[in-house]
Amino acid sequence: MDIIFDLIEKERQRQSHGLELIASENFVSDNVMKAMGSVLTNKYAEGYPGKRYYGGCEVVDEVETLAINRAKELFGVDYVNVQPHSGSQANAAIYLAVLKPGDKIMGMDLSMGGHLTHGSAVNFSGIQYEVVSYGVERETGLIDYNQMREVALRERPKMMIAGFSAYSRDLDYAKYREIADEIGATLWADIAHPAGLVAKGLLNSPFEHCHVVTTTTHKTLRGPRGGMIMMGKDFENTYGHKTPKGEIKMMSQVLDGAVFPGIQGGPLEHVIAGKAIAFGEALDVQFETYAKQVRANAQALSKAMINRGFDIVSGGTDNHLMLVDLRNKGVNGKETEKALVLADITCNKNMVPFDDKSPFTTSGIRLGTAAITTRGLKENDMDTIAGLISEVVDNIKNEEVLVSVRKKVNELMEGKALFNY
Ligand code: PLP
Repeated sequence: MDIIFDLIEKERQRQSHGLELIASENFVSDNVMKAMGSVLTNKYAEGYPGKRYYGGCEVVDEVETLAINRAKELFGVDYVNVQPHSGSQANAAIYLAVLKPGDKIMGMDLSMGGHLTHGSAVNFSGIQYEVVSYGVERETGLIDYNQMREVALRERPKMMIAGFSAYSRDLDYAKYREIADEIGATLWADIAHPAGLVAKGLLNSPFEHCHVVTTTTHKTLRGPRGGMIMMGKDFENTYGHKTPKGEIKMMSQVLDGAVFPGIQGGPLEHVIAGKAIAFGEALDVQFETYAKQVRANAQALSKAMINRGFDIVSGGTDNHLMLVDLRNKGVNGKETEKALVLADITCNKNMVPFDDKSPFTTSGIRLGTAAITTRGLKENDMDTIAGLISEVVDNIKNEEVLVSVRKKVNELMEGKALFNY
């Protein structure tokens, strides 16, 4: 047998024994797994259902149409494109559809909680477009909408981005739209992180206010790794778009064209099948219970961390994640991430707003509850987890303590299946 299978088994063991607190990760169902490991991976299907550039696409047409229809039902939207291979590619398609290189955009600063694709200098978005950004207030850790408006009116970006990778509060999409309308900007929401909570109405809906919405399918939505584009209510009607030949196209056609042939070739129909299965699972009432538990766990973990003297940015969470500012504990994000890994607790170092350390060191860690909730953990386990993290942070260089915490982590996760739906 190929050594790769030994490595896969090793990784399965690691995932089973450990506490997964990376906010962007989750455990998919066996059915999602099965779809991704199926013969659908053999099929080329450039184009869209009914309009392919290859023969033999009748079956994958049905698969992709099911994925689209389930996503429409789940989010209550009229347009969905399930082909983006990743969240970043869904986002790249938005840039291609809406802007010309050199146009100005406005996103949340990466160091304040934004994503690379929202204008970071090392990403195509920051390389090919002019970037202005908004951030959070120093005292509260909350988005500073006044500063956002001030910068928007002064800089007049053509597109504004509402979205984050490390912000624990809900977004006021109506406020974003008010500002975008003042300057005639397109408003794009990237709900990659909270999509599962948005789908179940636990957070504000971006669709009423934003022109276009992207997401990943693998975080709180608990599907396979991938991306997706959806349209808000008034984008199709209000935005004509001139092609290079001078034709006016509907926005849905422009978005489809931006994904294929704009930035991608053949779609990953095995992953699209996995997306369809995950959307079916998310439509089920059980997913509502799951999403509510994710949030309840995040709130319980944040409280338990605060009780142990940790500083949580903005003082709590409305979603599945939180940012821990470690500066009052005298440790940095890098060493904390490393020590936690030795105790079989996985999370990622993360910059905190107004951080004085580099992205390689950082002053914080980001914690999320989507994955541990899938493993069946509840509010009362969150106090235990905060205690374990606290023990690690207080004994960051003491290997004996780290080994003893690891034992406790392994005991806690013993007998808790990776996910079978
Ligand atoms: N958008 C946001 C807000 C994200 O947090 C992420 C990933 O963490 C992405 C996009 C990119 O997703 P992917 O890693 O699938 O490219």
